[in-house]
Amino acid sequence: MFPKPIYDITPFTMLDYPNHLATIFWFTKCNIRCVYCYNKDLVFGEGKISQEEALVFLNSRVGLLEGVVLSGGEATLYSDLVAFCKKIKQLKFKIKLDTNGLNPEMIQVLVANKLIDYIALDYKAPKEKYYEITKDKHFDSFSETLNFLIKKQFPFEVRTTVHRDLLRVEEINRIIKDLLKRKYNGTYYLQPFVFTENTIGRVKEEKNPFNIAQLSKELEVIWRV
Ligand code: SF4
Repeated sequence: MFPKPIYDITPFTMLDYPNHLATIFWFTKCNIRCVYCYNKDLVFGEGKISQEEALVFLNSRVGLLEGVVLSGGEATLYSDLVAFCKKIKQLKFKIKLDTNGLNPEMIQVLVANKLIDYIALDYKAPKEKYYEITKDKHFDSFSETLNFLIKKQFPFEVRTTVHRDLLRVEEINRIIKDLLKRKYNGTYYLQPFVFTENTIGRVKEEKNPFNIAQLSKELEVIWRV
């Protein structure tokens, strides 16, 4: 267990938890290496804030904020996450989890114990491109999480970061097709890659166009900027 699992706290956001005023806890460590990731400090760095310190902060926000976003990095890597969420819940905050879905066991425990209220699940790439984007071979674990959340009818959203040279419209349409096949009926969010030179895979600036008009209309798709 990391004694200080949190790298930083964003004290206030109106954008990251739908319809809720929230704070964001940025967890360190990640189990994959997305080539476009610019959060290297979180992925490779050490945490600075302990669970206890985060709870002291939350105590000071009771009555002022409604929710906590567990983001990162990948919060489900924190082995004491269940106990941490229980303490957050005792303070009556709602909890949103941002996750790559590669830890289905932890997500199932959190959901079964009613410790999470909303999930934003990253669908990084179609199966055949998953390794190229994430340098990870465990698409099946992500797939298990996705199927679990759909079957449970749990409140969640699916989202994909689009680097236009790495993921083309056809590939996003393949993701949409897969979501429909699995009977996902929520909104599918696309978020554009924002260029920085300091990404994990040192990806270059995008050159290809991305014609939103060519996206499948079979699912509600929102381009989130
Ligand atoms: S973008 Fe990828 S590598 Fe970076 S924190 Fe998120 S899941 Fe981990």
